[in-house]
Amino acid sequence: MQSLHGSILVVDDNAVIRQILKLALEQNQHHVTLATDGREAIDLMEKHYFDLILLDIMMPEMNGFQVLEHIAKIPDLAKIPVIVISADSQLDNAIRCIQLGAEDYLVKPPNQTLLRTRVNASLRKKFLHDQEQAHQAEMERMYEAVKVANTEKAEFIAMAAHELRNPLSQIATTNALFSRVGDLNAKQSQLLEKVNFSLERMKALIVDLDDIARLETGNIRVELRPLNLHELIQKTAESLQHDVLSRDHSLTLNVPPNLPLVCADRQRMIQVLTNLIGNALKYTPNGGQIVVTAVHEAHLHNVHVTIRDTGLGIQADEQKQIFTKFFRSGDTDVRARPGTGLGLYITKSLVEMQNGRIWFNSKYGQGTQFHFTLPVVGETTRPEMALDTAVPC
Ligand code: ADP
Repeated sequence: MQSLHGSILVVDDNAVIRQILKLALEQNQHHVTLATDGREAIDLMEKHYFDLILLDIMMPEMNGFQVLEHIAKIPDLAKIPVIVISADSQLDNAIRCIQLGAEDYLVKPPNQTLLRTRVNASLRKKFLHDQEQAHQAEMERMYEAVKVANTEKAEFIAMAAHELRNPLSQIATTNALFSRVGDLNAKQSQLLEKVNFSLERMKALIVDLDDIARLETGNIRVELRPLNLHELIQKTAESLQHDVLSRDHSLTLNVPPNLPLVCADRQRMIQVLTNLIGNALKYTPNGGQIVVTAVHEAHLHNVHVTIRDTGLGIQADEQKQIFTKFFRSGDTDVRARPGTGLGLYITKSLVEMQNGRIWFNSKYGQGTQFHFTLPVVGETTRPEMALDTAVPC
């Protein structure tokens, strides 16, 4: 086995033993420092770095036990392995040293082969441990650097989103004024409508970017309150009526009015439902059928919502990426529709922050079903008793 070379401190009050050990260790290319008692050894350890200590037990001034007790208290020294050198008749002392933290022991005068083997074994263990520590420290340093970079990126995104808001709302206001200034011809109206559409997209993008920044810095909060999903799904569906009609879709709601209240954040659930139903409308060719179903799963203490479409579907090899940030399918039909790939990432985070689960199944070319669950408040709270009470659940 390959020999290792280390910096070794030999502590012994017997000059002959010190010299024997020094010669034997130097023959194996170790760097050797000598100390005549425990006190001198401690002084040296505080000034120099050692890979291994060979320690006599019975010494004047400070004995081997006291040295071991001292180094056990100092984390940097406690990492250095100690091999105790004891007289043949002092086995009890060697055992006590092992209990105090020594790694191994050798009998005086040490046998050359045993000395080489045990020194090598201790050094190997020490070097491996050092490597592991260095690796761990490097990983921690990298992790911290990535965290800092991530926070800086999130702060930049939040700042950019904030700065974009003002000019955008000025454009929107100016745009709204055009129709009041005078009559517009058909071409002008058409152009203004295009500008409005782009403004809506930019507003949505800014909201998404702001949410991403908040999610990444842990600054997003949900306010969990008893919530009537029946009412919320109906209102969200109404707000999307324009998309339903303009694309000739049918949107059916199978949501019983007597669903138990769920524990969720109203605004965030509007965002989740808008994203999932909006995606179903967007990724379904005109004339599709979108069905939203909600079921109380009493045995699981939750409400299970499904949004089913008869749309493009998601290719099998893309399905595992669907909730990742910025993912958009490579499918040309998907790419033809506007989007950022942020909606589902935010939606999943929001559902999970509300103690729910979200998943999907999809067949390419046939359609997709997104599912999510939310916990119910309590069996005694019913929609007829309280509508979105202000009391946290
Ligand atoms: P966006 O719609 O802005 O691209 P999302 O995060 O909401 O972002 O969706 C990510 C991707 O998941 C979409 O680009 C699309 O490829 C796919 N996807 C989402 N919902 C559906 C759906 N109902 N049917 C087919 N594909 C979908």
